[in-house]
Order: sequence, then structure tokens, then C-alpha cells
Amino acid sequence: MIEIRKTVCYNKNDILFIGGAFCFLRSVLTMIELLSLEYNELRAFVENELGESSFRANQISEWICRGASIEDMTNLSKSLREKLAQEAFIAYPKIRKKLISKIDGTVKYLFEYLDGETVEGVLMRYDHGNTLCVSTQVGCRMGCRFCASTIGGKVRDLSSGEILGQVIIAQKESGERISNIVMMGIGEPLDNYDNVLRFIKLVSDEHGLNIGQRHISLSTSGLADKIDALANEDLQITLSVSLHAFDDKTRSSIMPVNNKWNIDVLLKACKRYFDKTGRRVSFEYTLINGKNDSLEGARQLSILLKRYFGKTPVHVNLIPVNQVSESSFTASGRGKVNAFCAELCQNGVNATVRRKLGDDISAACGQLRRREMQIFDT
Ligand code: SAH
Repeated sequence: MIEIRKTVCYNKNDILFIGGAFCFLRSVLTMIELLSLEYNELRAFVENELGESSFRANQISEWICRGASIEDMTNLSKSLREKLAQEAFIAYPKIRKKLISKIDGTVKYLFEYLDGETVEGVLMRYDHGNTLCVSTQVGCRMGCRFCASTIGGKVRDLSSGEILGQVIIAQKESGERISNIVMMGIGEPLDNYDNVLRFIKLVSDEHGLNIGQRHISLSTSGLADKIDALANEDLQITLSVSLHAFDDKTRSSIMPVNNKWNIDVLLKACKRYFDKTGRRVSFEYTLINGKNDSLEGARQLSILLKRYFGKTPVHVNLIPVNQVSESSFTASGRGKVNAFCAELCQNGVNATVRRKLGDDISAACGQLRRREMQIFDT
């Protein structure tokens, strides 16, 4: 079991200076990445590989949840810490940049991983607790036309531990408990299915951060086959689907994923998800001026949702598009957004306009990372 979780680590310190040119000698070390281990795997590792009694797994796990380094684990003997450091490492990201909203205190982090790749996380404070928006991939390959995260394509998947590390480090840095998770940062969670599934199990584990699955949302651009797979995992999470259009022509023009799984296929998978899990599906609908925000559009959307869901409850979250400098889309005005929302409600569809937090630090999904990349590119 442990073998499966062994992670290849490229040691960044091994840089040789040969003939005037830097040459990376990537010494491939096979080490255990502790954040990615489920509790029973950590126990097996502690017992079988370290030859220690299982209560050490509890101690290590507690330290990890607090974002401690192996060196900091002071209730382990020095020799055990040394042995642990030889066999394992912890892939916490470091905080490369932090922006705080002067309006509402929302915090945007730019996290940097061991290989120098960066992703974003956003800490939002609501009455019902703190929510962290996490990233699941470095970049994204879905190609949504309004989204900054996808512009440079996908660089790599994040491991389950790397995703978990965002939560641990945000909690450590803020000194506040995070009680809700939304997977709405950079990346397509269902395009990194196995790692995301493992992350959900890790973050909700009672030996770990113990965040209830009902407090976890997964947002997808609509990979229908993976929605079906997820329905069979016996999870309690909320599924959010980025719909953003009421017909295939409009959706395909802004979301290439629609060419593979069109609205019909997608909504049928969503209905099956509800039937299997009993969890209400949420739809994200970003309002783009002149593209998908007409009153007739709202009527069409309500007819569409009624056709597939009948009396089954669904929820629509309306968000005026965040302007991305690389795209020409502009946000619908306040009046239009409210009218669209009212029209949906009048037609019996539960809809709300998403409260916008951190407007001043905003930079839509993926913009902070892009800006940083540009600074480093020049
Ligand atoms: N790939 C997943 C999750 C990441 S994006 C998905 O597509 O759902 C999280 C949400 O932000 C999605 O609903 C996405 O469509 C939306 N989004 C991305 N860029 C945006 C922008 N510029 N303005 C408004 N919403 C945006």
C-alpha cells in the first residue's frame, strides 16, 4: 500500500555548475510525501518503515495539520526526526504573495510549491465561517474563454497533499479555522480526479482537518463522465457545475468542453448525481454583457432546468463576469444581473447573486498567478 504513495521528488538543491552553464541534475529521490497519506497509510508507514509504535502516527498527523516541519516535531526524539526526514518530506506550499482586501478582509494567497510552480487560494470570511477557495491544478486545459487560469494551459496536476497543503498553510498563516472548502481556484478538479478524490478524503478525515464533506464544494466545467464516477464515490460534497449558458451554441462558444459533453449530456449526468447522492446540484452562471444575460435567456434557462430536473431542487449562482485583460468580455450591469435573477425566481428556479468579496484584490480566477508569471517572464 505504501509503495503506491511513494512520490518522486526532484531535489532542487542539486544544481551543478558545468562549463559556464547551469545544468539541473535532478537527483530522483524516492521519498514518502506525508501530506498525501491517508491515516491508515501513515500508520503503516510509521510501523513498517520507521519501526515505531502507531501512536507516533497520531503525533505526526497532529503536527502536519498545524503546518509544522519535521524538525519542529519536538515530541519525537531527535533520532526519529532524522530518520523521518530521510524517508519522507512534506509538500507544504510557501506563501509567495499575499493580498488583503481593504473592503472586507478577504485574503488572496499565491502559493509556491517545491518545484517553484504557483497557484492561488482565497480566504473568504462569511457569517457561517471561513471558506478557502483552493486550486487543484497548476494552470488548466479547459480553455474557457472568460477565464485567466487557462490562458497558459495546464502545467501539471497537484497531488492530494499539495492541495491539502493550501488549507493547512492558510489556516496556519491566518490563525483562523477554515470550516468550508470550495474547489473553485485554478484548475479543473475532475481533470485531476484521483488526487482530488484523495484530497476530499484527507481533508474530511477525523484524524486530519476534519472538515465535514457537506462543507466542501467541487466546481466543474462539466466533465459528464467524471460526474457519473463521482456519484458512485459515496460522498456528501456539493457539486457545482459551471453552466454559463442556456443553449449549446452559446456554451460551446465560451466553453470548449461543451463540444465533448453538451448541455443535454451534462444535465442528465447532473440529474443522475442527484438521484444517486440526494445532494442538490448548484449551477454557476457568469453573466457576460450581451452574451448570455438577456431576460429571454433567463426564461430559457428556467425552462431548460425544469425540463431536466422537474421538481428536483437546484440552485443557480449568478456572478457578473470578472473582466480578464486578455478577453473582451465585460460584466453585465447591476440592474441586468438583478433582473436576470428575478426572472429565474419568478419562473420557479432558486437563484441568488453571488456576493462579491475582495473586489479590490480581485483579479479573477488565475489572474494573480498570471501577473506574477509576466513579472518573472520579463
Ligand atoms: N474548472 C472548474 C473550477 C475552477 S473555476 C470550473 O470550471 O468550474 C471556478 C468558477 O469560476 C467557475 O464557475 C468558472 O467558470 C468561474 N470563472 C472563471 N473565470 C471567471 C471570470 N473571469 N469571471 C467570473 N467567473 C469566472
